[in-house]
Amino acid sequence: MAFDIEMIKEVYAQTPVRIAAARKVVGKPLTLTEKILYAHLSEGAASQAFKRGTSYVDFQPDRVAMQDATAQMALLQFMQAGRSQVAVPSTVHCDHLIQAEIGADKDLSKAKDKNKEVYDFLASVSNKYGIGFWKPGAGIIHQVVLENYAFPGGMMIGTDSHTPNAGGLGMIAIGVGGADACDVMAGLPWELKFPKLIGVKLTGKLSGWTAAKDVILKVAGILTVKGGTGAIVEYFGEGARSLSATGKGTICNMGAEIGATTSIFGYDEKSAAYLSGTGRSDIAALANGIAEHLTGDPEVYAQPELYFDQVIEINLSELEPHVNGPFTPDLAWPISKFAAAVRENGWPAKLDVGLIGSCTNSSYEDISRAASLAQQAVDKKLVAKSEYTITPGSEQVRFTVARDGFLDTFDKMGGVVLANACGPCIGQWARHGAEKQERNSIITSFNRNFAKRADGNPNTHSFVASPEIVTALAIAGDLTFNPLTDTLTNSEGNQVRLDEPRGLELPTKGFAVEDAGYQAPAADGSTVQVLVAPTSDRLQLLDSFAAWEGVDLKGLKLLIKAKGKCTTDHISMAGPWLKYRGHLDNISNNMLIGAVNAYNDATNSVKNQLTGAYGEVPATQRAYKAAGIGSIVVGDENYGEGSSREHAAMEPRFLGVRAILVKSFARIHETNLKKQGMLALTFANPADYDLIQENDVIDINGLTTFAPGKPLEVVFHHANGTSHTVVANHTYNQGQIEWFKAGSALNLIKAKA
Ligand code: SF4
Repeated sequence: MAFDIEMIKEVYAQTPVRIAAARKVVGKPLTLTEKILYAHLSEGAASQAFKRGTSYVDFQPDRVAMQDATAQMALLQFMQAGRSQVAVPSTVHCDHLIQAEIGADKDLSKAKDKNKEVYDFLASVSNKYGIGFWKPGAGIIHQVVLENYAFPGGMMIGTDSHTPNAGGLGMIAIGVGGADACDVMAGLPWELKFPKLIGVKLTGKLSGWTAAKDVILKVAGILTVKGGTGAIVEYFGEGARSLSATGKGTICNMGAEIGATTSIFGYDEKSAAYLSGTGRSDIAALANGIAEHLTGDPEVYAQPELYFDQVIEINLSELEPHVNGPFTPDLAWPISKFAAAVRENGWPAKLDVGLIGSCTNSSYEDISRAASLAQQAVDKKLVAKSEYTITPGSEQVRFTVARDGFLDTFDKMGGVVLANACGPCIGQWARHGAEKQERNSIITSFNRNFAKRADGNPNTHSFVASPEIVTALAIAGDLTFNPLTDTLTNSEGNQVRLDEPRGLELPTKGFAVEDAGYQAPAADGSTVQVLVAPTSDRLQLLDSFAAWEGVDLKGLKLLIKAKGKCTTDHISMAGPWLKYRGHLDNISNNMLIGAVNAYNDATNSVKNQLTGAYGEVPATQRAYKAAGIGSIVVGDENYGEGSSREHAAMEPRFLGVRAILVKSFARIHETNLKKQGMLALTFANPADYDLIQENDVIDINGLTTFAPGKPLEVVFHHANGTSHTVVANHTYNQGQIEWFKAGSALNLIKAKA
């Protein structure tokens, strides 16, 4: 079930040959990132020295992984591609649709009932097309991938923005939209702009309260949510080699929060130990055979500033535990400064809930270290003041930590074990009282803390920290508690201090599991029926989008000028909407409902230019669609940051939005828009954003001569009879222009198949 040793042998046979070819054309020592990228050039990509940040390059990934929310649309699209089997090993993981409410067993059985038609669809479509299927309860995609499929020197794409988790095991693993996954499963190359490279040199060694999570919390503070855009972050140095493979996974996972294309560590003894510990000694043996190719060249690491576009150095011995937030993951506070920040900013100091787990921090090591604190709470007669939940990353981890007594320890502290799934991390949290929208604080070991993400309450101040710090603060029930220096009063009135957490990187008795939750596909799926009920309100077979009409676009309406942060959560909200991920018409009713209208500072309230009345964004756009009028969306900086969901691109396309014009884009969302045949444009002069008025009528000119590197022209006709012409840049290459012309990338694939 677990890994495809023959595929890996083939990759490892090719790797030295391809790297040798790359050396000749690049003519200088190579980083690890370059080695893996060059080893995965597609057949058609001639060996050449690619320009970082500008060259578009075709790659051939080794694997595809999909989570259940995004897999629905990816596989509905794949069904349109005319193939009988997937071209590369692929898996589906049922983790996003399980709502956390009471505890693991009850929540899981409720989810199986509630999501039956989706699970049946995913199981049947996987069975038909040769895709491995991980059932609900089997675990969170990235943890399952790390345990079973990630391998050093490999390349994977995944329909989830935290796919980079596998970088902890030396894999280039990149989050993409379902349309990209569909291409690779159909056997087409996958295109990526050759990334810039950020090197992070880690010196020293972690100790005491500091954990791998603190490395990425610190990096997020340095680089901010935009600082990694277009770059791959490569970690190296003695400090890197001292981290466990799962700790490295945590760092790579949360690299998504700095906008990085992905993050990666080289192959080392810790990687080998993890591979062996998860039943893959044969892969470790193969990797040992080509170890020099699974790390950067020594010259690179000796003088990193000559080979990386940016270098950051962090001394792990001096690194403090961090708490990041609220509302953004890059607001980084060393624990020694956090209490003062809480007081100065007036954030609610009382901590309501501490949550550990998620794909970011749910390894055996994480849980064992958090459990060591829970045990202290019990031994020192401390009663946890906050609610406390634990999400194991996989059934294998859950079974093993249960066997080793950690779940009992959490139970004694009053913790609740949730299903092996995303749960509160993606808003699947039936949090009692959240609807009252009271100001409150929570702290999690997850990766994202945007407003409303966990419980839908905009007043929930969500902070991110390591599982150890989350546990300590949950015991204290107080955000201003610093476990490194402060004491707590126990039930007998004594002052007690929490000792440093302790844990194990890997279980001494090895991992164990009774039923990992895997279902292999049929060897021949030709007679397997894919289950989609025509009456379903959760699944809908797709129709093709119309091709471009061949002329410039005239007379468009301004749907919304979005102000400030507009993530894919704002464009296509998660939480209750997750259930419509396989039904484009229904999920389109959440389009842009979280975006702030620049003209009235309200969400989900825009002026309908046909009636003059204010209405909800999706309803207004449906009115334009019904009238046969196109529209555009204007946005601010880093538009579409966050999750990789292509729904955020498909919904506007489906409802008749023709272009998104913004100050800047997040990479994945920009690509998703292109795939769906939308125009993704940026202001040549970002200040032009201010010129746009609410009642404007808009033309987009230059489409008949649409060409790479040639800006388009957008004319805003104002209500007073004046107009402004704005230069709109784009990053379309010739192939992507063909997607636009055909109406979508899928339309082109289908034509070729
Ligand atoms: S970040 Fe959260 S929602 Fe996304 S895969 Fe990880 S656990 Fe699931």
